[in-house]
Amino acid sequence: MTFTSGDSVGFVGYRGMVGSVLMQRIIEEGDFKRITPVFFSTSQAGKPAPTFDGLLPESTLLDAHDLDALAKLPIIVTAQGGDYTKAVHPKLRERGWDGLWIDAASTLRMNDDSVIVLDPINRDVIDRGLESGVKDFIGGNCTVSCLLMGLGGLWKNGLVEWATSMTYQAASGGGARHMREVLQQFGDINGSVAQELADPASAILEIDRKVLAKQRSGELNTDQFGVPLSGSLIPWIDTDLGNGQSREEWKAEAESNKILGLTGDDRVVLDGLCVRIATMRSHSQALTIKLTEDLSVAEIEKLIDEDNEWAKVVPNEREATMQQLTPVAASGTLEIPVGRIRKLNMGPQYISAFTVGDQLLWGAAEPVRRMLAIATGAI
Ligand code: NAP
Repeated sequence: MTFTSGDSVGFVGYRGMVGSVLMQRIIEEGDFKRITPVFFSTSQAGKPAPTFDGLLPESTLLDAHDLDALAKLPIIVTAQGGDYTKAVHPKLRERGWDGLWIDAASTLRMNDDSVIVLDPINRDVIDRGLESGVKDFIGGNCTVSCLLMGLGGLWKNGLVEWATSMTYQAASGGGARHMREVLQQFGDINGSVAQELADPASAILEIDRKVLAKQRSGELNTDQFGVPLSGSLIPWIDTDLGNGQSREEWKAEAESNKILGLTGDDRVVLDGLCVRIATMRSHSQALTIKLTEDLSVAEIEKLIDEDNEWAKVVPNEREATMQQLTPVAASGTLEIPVGRIRKLNMGPQYISAFTVGDQLLWGAAEPVRRMLAIATGAI
């Protein structure tokens, strides 16, 4: 099967968190002009498909488990989630479907016959994959993709001996329902002290006591996160691998090396702790990096800035950091600010860095959108 501009492309999971951002980016870039979209849903089949305010003709949502409908398409793009991929992808392949499967879920990422897509960093790996007949192109883990988009200049030039990444990951990393839960929790907590807040003379310790009591009351909706996240944090993301490491933490080293095509002695050790915090959007990470050389901060900043058009060095100064290096500043933009770059007291080859990236853009939707554009010859 060959892929060309004008192809029909199946979209599954278009209304979830990643899917919605993907649709937004596709519209912004005018990608629908080059393809014929066919929309699928696991729960809304038969209802009207999106037209995006008349941009697309009216159509009907197809059943995302209808293998006959899916198998007619040369390209399927899914942001539906890992369970869907597990249920549908093997059945399609078993019946001989040899189309392109472009996926935001992690299920197929580490398979030998898949490529993790992040084309500003690994366009060569993607092109080699397409030439050699790879059919599964999978978006990387959100923190890993944002890390490499920000600091790829150091990794690509073989300048990282090892690194630790301590993350601060947004609620939206879990999906649309997780975002709603966090806002609901904030609202309920606020409501429990509304009277005291309205009175500037009320005792702050009493407000603090009531907030904690509300958080511990069992009354907050915690269906998605399991415990209250608002006004708190959860230092564990994804499943327990049984060796003290979470699956999210394991992904950092496994995926970053696969994205860069590094094997054997060339692999770079990358490990740390992944923490969920109650921000809405954008994952942040604090890095300690041991460089292979004693580079000056100016040289490091140049390598980062020049690696790709989205990485942006923020001067290691208080005001610039506060204005430019936060989830509020980075959300909704494709820029990946990298700041707090300085030599650590451990020695001249040890640096710190802090980076923030909208994980729904470079961490999920954008690499997938660009893979579709690459497959159809647009970039
Ligand atoms: P999500 O928001 O939960 O959406 C997934 C599906 O849930 C939707 O396509 C929709 O499918 C269904 N859904 C049910 N109720 C919904 C509601 N109220 N609003 C919207 N959708 C609803 O999941 P996601 O965060 O987009 O993640 C999709 C995949 O991308 C996952 O594999 C995830 O691991 C991966 N990923 C996510 C991120 C991130 O930052 N969120 C980053 C990288 C990768 P139907 O139309 O079929 O009902």
